[in-house]
Formats: sequence, C-alpha cells, structure tokens
Amino acid sequence: MNKPFLNKLRKIDPYVPGEQSQAANLVKLNANENPYPPSPRVTEVLRTFDAAKLALYPDANGLRLKNALAARFSVKNTQVFLGNGSDDVLALAFQSFFCSDLPILYPDITYSFYPVWCDLLRVPYETVPLDDDFCVNVRDYDKPNGGVILPNPNAPTGQGVTLDFIEDLLQHNADSVVIIDEAYVDFGAQSAVALIDKYENLLVVQTMSKSRSLAGQRIGYALGSETLISTLEAVKNSYNSYTMDMIALETGAASVEDETYFRQTCDQVIATRTRSAKALAALGFTVLPSQSNFLFVTHPNKAAKAIFEALRKQNIFIRYFSLPRIDNYLRITIGTDEQMDKLFSALKSIL
Ligand code: PMP
Repeated sequence: MNKPFLNKLRKIDPYVPGEQSQAANLVKLNANENPYPPSPRVTEVLRTFDAAKLALYPDANGLRLKNALAARFSVKNTQVFLGNGSDDVLALAFQSFFCSDLPILYPDITYSFYPVWCDLLRVPYETVPLDDDFCVNVRDYDKPNGGVILPNPNAPTGQGVTLDFIEDLLQHNADSVVIIDEAYVDFGAQSAVALIDKYENLLVVQTMSKSRSLAGQRIGYALGSETLISTLEAVKNSYNSYTMDMIALETGAASVEDETYFRQTCDQVIATRTRSAKALAALGFTVLPSQSNFLFVTHPNKAAKAIFEALRKQNIFIRYFSLPRIDNYLRITIGTDEQMDKLFSALKSIL
C-alpha cells in the first residue's frame, strides 16, 4: 500500500542503553550503576514525602536543589542548571551551544549518545581519533570548530585527563563552548568546576546517576558561567518548564547534603576497582587504567563478544560494543565485592 506520509516521518538511529533485565539473581554490571543504595537521607525524604503536595507543579527553577549544589561547589545558584538526568542537560547543551556551521569535535571512541544528538539536532561533527593507548591528544583539538565535548574520564575507556590538559584545551578553544562531561569524575578524576569562573565558555556537566546512586531518580546538572547557564535556561523554558519533578528536587538536595556517605561509597567503589583490576589481570586480561566506576578490558586469547555472551548465559551482564577499534573490548561496571567475585569465578570457567 502506498503511504506517502511515511516519507515525512523522522528517521533516526537512537541511542541504545544497557539492558535492564528483571531476572532474579542477576549480577548487573552493564550500565555503570552504583551497587550501593543512595544516602539514608534520601530514604528519609521518600518516607516522609506528603503525596498531597504533588497536586501542585514543582518549582520550575528548582531552587531547593540549585541552592544545595551551589553551596556544595561554592558557586552562585545562577551558575547551576538542572535537568532530568545529565542526558537531558547534554541534549539541551547541544541545542544551546552547538549552533554554528563548523563541526563540533569529540573523540572517535566516546559516549555513543553524542552522534545521536548531532543527528537529531543536525549538528555537524568531526570525530578526533584517540591514540593507540586510547588517550586524548590535546593538540588534535587546535582547529576551527563549532564546539568541543569531552568526557572526563572518557567512556567507555575510563581514562581521565588532568586539569592542566583541560586548561590547555580551553586556552586553544576560546571561540567555542567547551563541554566537559563529568559523569564519572567522582571516582578519581580532576573536576573542571574549579575553572568555571576563569573560562566563561566552559560548561561542566555532572550526574547523580553514578556516584550518588540515583540513576532511577534522573538528576543531572551543569555548572558554568551565568552567560551559559542563562542560555540553557532560555532553551529549556522554550520546550518544558518542569523537567525536574518535586521528589527529585528534594531527594537530590538530601543527597548533596550528605557528603560523608557520598565519600564513603565512592571510596568503596574505588577500592573494589583496584582489587578487580588485579583479579582481571591475573586472569590474563589487559586492563586499561580507570578513573571511573568501570573497567575497560580485553583478553588476548578469547574474543570479547564470546566472553560477553557466555557471561550473559550465567546471568552476569556486562557491556559489549560492536564498534570500530573496541569490538574486542568489554566494559565492566564495578559492583560490590561479592558481585565481582561471582564475575571472576564465572570468567575462570569460561576462559
Ligand atoms: N555521560 C556519560 C559519559 C555517560 O556514560 C552517561 C550514562 N549513560 C551519561 C552522560 C548520562 O547519564 P544520566 O542521564 O543518567 O545522568
């Protein structure tokens, strides 16, 4: 049957997130989630929340949470932008700042949502190859561009760059907005938040999904100059005033105000990462240095895809990307010590 309207529909290849299975006894190490629960203060907010309040709209400006973040990072609340997960913040940042005809730049191996937003929003882009060790070379970004986006640490490789590197990048890209995606920064990399007052064109994006165990709550935020933040606000308020629901504003603030619990869980993940890197190396894996809550590994004798599939049969989920240069690598989220032990014994039998 001839259906001409089909030619008018948007055609797009969407981003594919890590599988969310409901299987019992699952060892879920495929979406870089935190294996620990959020702060007990978050539980308390949820326990005492008055459902009657939901009859009203939330504060469109999210001041309760903005103030908590502003205090945590010693910035003004007008330097904080909130979103429904950092994916929402990043998608809005692409719309707000990547508006020229020049291509934006990002690494060839990186967060696979970037090309999807470029496609959706018709942003021209150019990928910049990482070197053979999957490291970023700052001089590769010294060329005319419509903007730069770099995760620190990078995903799925887990490797971070220094603050000196980011400052160098900013000094050579003063005519564009530079976005540093710090989804995993709390697990050991250096944050660029310290530079936002010095560089008006720097936007730092963070999330509560990883280090604050709140992936299900969907809270992301950006920190930057008032110039950038007010532009983001204008774009957000041109499509949805209420991206943050009332419960997210309260639980997010409660999490930010519990620095002790935050540090403890991050330190525990880092300790398990160190131990896991050694255990995987002992099984023959090459393990990339990681400053994130995951490890990126490859095995000389067994194909990554075969390992991924064999683990999946045993209800152990990790992540495999069928992409150029990394199709023989596996990304393994750091779980609890007990979950990692199950992974190691399964790997021993598979190998
Ligand atoms: N940036 C990077 C590099 C990520 O890996 C992720 C998680 N998929 C995000 C941003 C988005 O996370 P969220 O939307 O949960 O904040």
